[in-house]
Amino acid sequence: MTDKSEFDSPLFRTALAQLDGVAKRLGLDHDIHVRMQAPRRALVVSIPVRMDDGRTEVFTGYRVHHSTVLGPTKGGLRYDLEVSLGEVTALAMLMSWKCALMGLPYGGAKGGVRCNPRAMSLREREHLTRRYTAEIILLIGPDLDIPAPDLGTDEQTMAWMMDTYSMTQGKSVPGVVTGKPLIVGGSAGRREATGRGIVYTLYQAAHHLGQELRGRRIVVQGFGNVGGVAARLLWNDGCVIAGVSDVRGGIWKPDGIDMRQLEAHVAEAGTVTGFPGAEAISNADLITQPCDVLLPAATGSQIREDNADRVRAAIVAEGANGPTTPEADAILKERGITVIPDILANAGGVVVSYFEWVQGLQYYFWRETEIVARLQEVMTRAFNRVWALSAKESTDLRTAALMEGISRVAEGYRIRGLYP
Ligand code: NAD
Repeated sequence: MTDKSEFDSPLFRTALAQLDGVAKRLGLDHDIHVRMQAPRRALVVSIPVRMDDGRTEVFTGYRVHHSTVLGPTKGGLRYDLEVSLGEVTALAMLMSWKCALMGLPYGGAKGGVRCNPRAMSLREREHLTRRYTAEIILLIGPDLDIPAPDLGTDEQTMAWMMDTYSMTQGKSVPGVVTGKPLIVGGSAGRREATGRGIVYTLYQAAHHLGQELRGRRIVVQGFGNVGGVAARLLWNDGCVIAGVSDVRGGIWKPDGIDMRQLEAHVAEAGTVTGFPGAEAISNADLITQPCDVLLPAATGSQIREDNADRVRAAIVAEGANGPTTPEADAILKERGITVIPDILANAGGVVVSYFEWVQGLQYYFWRETEIVARLQEVMTRAFNRVWALSAKESTDLRTAALMEGISRVAEGYRIRGLYP
């Protein structure tokens, strides 16, 4: 038995249920299974920040390493009011399966700070990031744990983290984070990688289902790094982007939204809401609009027991991590909706992060065309392996993806043995 009470949260319960279900299906060795149920280490830190009004506010931050058997750990850093130890731990566990599924030499990690980054100034966010980095410094490093951007963080956040870490080392250490700006060792194609990876998996899914993606109606929840890029690439390829949303609300235009015009609107207004010529719609209603592809790319638990029976899409591509609850997953499966699971659909980000890390360690940078071609190859092969396994095992894509990821991590535990 593993004592997991510290990590309890809805997302952790989901992640654990997935692990336990797949462990049973795989007939996983009990002693290895129990080691995978809890993270290897988890750090909780207090982050005091002097705010612009002179007050000191103390934020809570986390960094969790789930498994380290396949290599140094990798995972994003999230700034959001929902962040908790349980959520971060669940996301770290998902990263272990995702990295293994994609064949990357990494274990899974995740970090987070409970805050509302939209309510903070640039200076406050910089101080928060630098102090958080200093507090978790024992846990990060190019061959130890390599953070990347996630919800609420971006290239600038990574630049501050890299600079803070480098200052403590007395030299520049670009390999400590990925998703950095190009000028300080970022990779071409990293910013677009997650969105692009989703598009590749959608092409494969459409191909296997005997459909054409072009001309299809797409709904995207979340218009940030993941959703914004995926929507733009799908629009470039001739898809109809009928609805999009962000934290402030959504817009709906069944005959299609011009992505160039929407990007210009967002650059000015800071939100998709108020886009001329489109109807206003809530995030809740957007999820159940009629479409061919629903792309949740914001936060977790958006497709739930109470709305899954009203989802009117043929394919759900999970850009976000954990957007579908297990109850909703069962309903979607029952209704014959194809779900491309998060650990597969949104893995393009960590794949190009891996390319960035390798380039940084070698101080040798590849052309964007090379990165895009390699990403496409990795995503397509992973999708096809998962599709074939799901057919062989008569199961859904999520179970198949988890089976492959979890069995690889388990093999790492088996072959390395138990210390001491
Ligand atoms: P982001 O901060 O760039 O964008 C998030 C978008 O979602 C914004 O438009 C924001 O307004 C919106 N949003 C936030 N909370 C919302 C809510 N409650 N309801 C509706 N919209 C909301 O973040 P991102 O990097 O695009 O990440 C989005 C999701 O994708 C997260 O679940 C993240 O874990 C996952 N993900 C990100 C990456 C990556 O490379 N950035 C990789 C894999 C998975």
